[in-house]
Formats: sequence, C-alpha cells, structure tokens
Amino acid sequence: MRSPHVIVIGGGLSGLSASIALADFGFRVSLLEKTPRLGGRATSYVLPTGEQIDNCQHVTLRCCANLADFYSRTGVADKIRYYDQLVFADSKGQRAFIKPSKLPAPFHLLPSFATFRLLKWKDKQAVAHAMLRIVGSGGRPELSGAITMLDWLKQQKQTQAAIDRFWRTVLVSALNEDLEYIDASYGIAVFWKAFLSNPGGFRVGIPAVPLADLYRSTSERIERKQGHVRTRCGVAEIQVCGNKVSSVQVEDGSEMNADYYVAALTFDRLLKTLPDGIRTQEPFANFQNLLVSPITSVHLWFDRIVMQEPFLTSVDQTIQWVFNKTKLYGDGPPKSAQYLQIVISASRGLRDRSQQEIIELCKDELARLFPATREARLIRSVVICENAATFSPQPGCDRWRPDQCTPISNLFLAGDWTQTGWPATMESAVRSGYRAAEAILAQEGRPARVIQPELPVTGLARWIHRTQGGRT
Ligand SMILES: Cc1cc2nc3c(=O)[nH]c(=O)nc-3n(C[C@H](O)[C@H](O)[C@H](O)COP(=O)(O)OP(=O)(O)OC[C@H]3O[C@@H](n4cnc5c(N)ncnc54)[C@H](O)[C@@H]3O)c2cc1C
Repeated sequence: MRSPHVIVIGGGLSGLSASIALADFGFRVSLLEKTPRLGGRATSYVLPTGEQIDNCQHVTLRCCANLADFYSRTGVADKIRYYDQLVFADSKGQRAFIKPSKLPAPFHLLPSFATFRLLKWKDKQAVAHAMLRIVGSGGRPELSGAITMLDWLKQQKQTQAAIDRFWRTVLVSALNEDLEYIDASYGIAVFWKAFLSNPGGFRVGIPAVPLADLYRSTSERIERKQGHVRTRCGVAEIQVCGNKVSSVQVEDGSEMNADYYVAALTFDRLLKTLPDGIRTQEPFANFQNLLVSPITSVHLWFDRIVMQEPFLTSVDQTIQWVFNKTKLYGDGPPKSAQYLQIVISASRGLRDRSQQEIIELCKDELARLFPATREARLIRSVVICENAATFSPQPGCDRWRPDQCTPISNLFLAGDWTQTGWPATMESAVRSGYRAAEAILAQEGRPARVIQPELPVTGLARWIHRTQGGRT
C-alpha cells in the first residue's frame, strides 16, 4: 500500500519533531525549510572566521520530557549534559547555590534554599509560603481571573527582595517576559514542574556541541525513511481549494502536493503564506493578538580564563545568565582563552542601545561577577538581538493559541506558540510537532500516542497535593 505523503513547512524543532514522528510511523515526509540550516530559532551560525556560534544559548530542563524524547529518537541525547547545581550571584560577587538533597519532593531543594545567601530569612519565609500554596494545589491554585504573576506574588505577600532576587530571576529567563506581563498560571507551572513535583525536574540540560550539530542525524533519519529534507526551500503560498490544501507554491515557482500539510512556522510567517480569504477567518485571524518578546545574547571572547563555573545566574543586574562556552564544550586540551555567552531575556530595555553600549554594559557587570575580566583583553564580541524571540505569555493569551487541527481538513499547525500547555520553549515546539503527528495519525484511522508523559509527581508533593484536595 502507498504510504501517505506529508509536506512539513519549516525546519525548526516543531517541524523536525513532526517529521521524525511521522517518518517513524511510515509516512513519506517532505520537509521544506526556507534557510540553509535546520533548527529555526534554536540553531547556530557560521561566523566569517569559520567559527560556529549559537544564535543564543539554549537550555532545557529534565522536566522537558518530549524534547528529551526527540533527542533520544535522533540519537543525540548523549550530547546534552545535565547539571545538578544552580549558581546564583549578586553584583557584589557573592555566590549562592541551589542543589538537591536526599529529601523527597517538594523538599529536595530545601536545605540549599535554607542556606541561600542572597535572600534574608523573611524573604525565604515568604517564598516558602507561596511554594506551599503551589504544592497544595498541584501546581494550579485558584486564581482570581487572568492575573499577572506580579499580582499573584503580591497576593501571596512576597517581600520586594523575594520578588526581585528570586521570582524575577527565575521567571524572566524561563518565560522570556517580565513579571508584570506574565500570566500567573504560566509562572506557577514553571515552579511546580521544574522545582516542586519531582526531584529531577530542575536539572539543567545544556548541549555540549553547537545547536546545529544536533539536527544532522534528524535529516539522515528522515531521508532513510523515504523522506526528503530540502533547505533553501521557502514556501511562498499554501494554496487552498474548498476545505482542503491543494498544494504549496515554493519560492522558486514550483508546486508540490501531498496528502497532509503541517505548517510549522511562526504565526507571522504562517499568516503571510495563507491566502487572503483564509487569513481573516478564525482561528487564523486570532494570531495577530499574540504579542512577542525579545532576547539579546552577547558573545564575548577573552584572552584568558575569567570564569570557573560552567554557567551562572545573575540576580540583580541587566545580564541574567552567563554561560562558560569553553567549559560547556569541554573536550580537548586546557584552554588559555575563554568564550562566554550572556543571555538577557525580555530585553526591551536594550532596544535603544547600540551594540557597543551593550558590550560595555556587559563588561561592567561581568567585572562584578568575575573580577579577572578587569585585567583581561576582550578579543572579539558579537551581539545578537532576536526581537521576536518568543510569544509573550500575557494573561489570557491562551485563548489565541490554536489547536494543531484546523478547519482546513488536511492542514495541521505546529510551533511553540500553538496550544501545548507550555510556554514558548523547545519543549513546547516538540510537543506541538508530536501533537500534529498524533492528529494526522488519528485522521488516517491509526490513533497512536506520540506525546510523552510528564515526569511523575513524587514523594510528599504527591501526598500533600492529594490531602489538600488539589486538582491535577
Ligand atoms: C534567543 C532565543 C533564546 C531562546 N532560549 C531558549 C532556551 O534556552 N530554552 C528553550 O527551551 N527555548 C528557548 N528559546 C525558544 C526556542 O528557540 C523556540 O521555542 C523553538 O526553537 C521554536 O521552534 P519552532 O519550530 O516552533 O519555530 P522556529 O524555530 O521559528 O521554526 C520555524 C522555521 O520555519 C522556517 N520558515 C519560515 N518561513 C518559512 C517558509 N515560508 N517556508 C519554509 N520555512 C520557513 C524558519 O526558517 C524556521 O526554521 C529561545 C528562543 C530564542 C529566539
């Protein structure tokens, strides 16, 4: 019997994961990607020097079960290294650590939190109170409507220091948005899934290779399974006839058709490829209500070693995370120079600054964390600002996020911004791709589960949640 043919438009993580899942179920997949490389927003560039750099450091957490599954399917799971200890630092250079203990969830991080030097006792008491609210409700406390995370924290009587040095530090980077714009349900879910419900959820996974190296095996696997991966192959228009996609028009003027189509594009790109009459219909017309938030990454090469930790979080400065890329890539003889990458999420405040001003700001702030940078020579620097890095998880935004099935019978959507229950992350992208694959399988009359279960709720977290009558 002829296997069904699927055209997947977009080679980011959502398109790659839909392609792999469908290829594994015997579909013939044609993956069309506009740029020369795969990975979309989670990829690497080659500099004129020949060096490959990530557009921005990407990290995952152990609770991202579908992304981990994608890496396993494509044989690159061993290229992600997991770290158990989170290092926080303030502008005085003081360090504090969050690391696991033998206590069961949700108390596994409590001993390190009790000795966390960057918060005072009253701040920690406030944080503990809010955490218990989250645990007791299974990560879904009753909320008074679509409220912001900041309002919820104020309702929980958090101190200013707890808000600024703890909640803001974790959530702005996890959700790429400021507390005053984050839907509280998103913020609460981060703490429940990563820090409270399972002792392993918070472990930070960082690729030990450039991001683009993670996708070579994906292409090979799709091609081994009768599929095709075409880069530099942008889709100009998705052509719709009645209730079905009839074909896609490629930018070189050619046409391609298939039984099913997965549009794994960002919402602005998708709207550009849809015919006028469709773009204005629901759910497509709703996408314009989603807002976006920027991320700035700053790459600095020093002539000597200035940082010892593999990565570090800064609690009270503009720079938020510093990654020691030399150490994270790891292999090879000891190095005499060092490559650092700084990440600043929700970086609207840098919009009017020149690249040179951003570099100077980073150097000043780095010197407070790593005094050795004062003596070091900055050999090279690159600033990359992604203005539309992710959608902004604003209160009520879920109503604009579409399902993967559309009113057009053979058109499916994927992308970190579609309905996945997760904020805009690599996990959300892979979930959306797997959900699109599940929807196509169901339409073929071959229902199957592709989505992976979340990490189980364990230990006392499970017990507290049940005795308090929490909903899961
Ligand atoms: C700076 C930055 C830092 C981030 N950090 C993290 C992090 O640490 N952890 C994390 O989990 N997430 C992070 N994210 C989010 C993560 O990168 C995204 O959630 C994820 O990569 C989105 O994948 P996607 O497939 O949904 O979309 P995309 O990656 O945007 O994929 C869409 C693809 O479609 C292609 N395309 C566009 N138009 C066409 C066309 N007409 N025809 C064919 N192809 C087309 C694009 O080139 C692209 O490859 C970060 C994002 C950014 C920008």
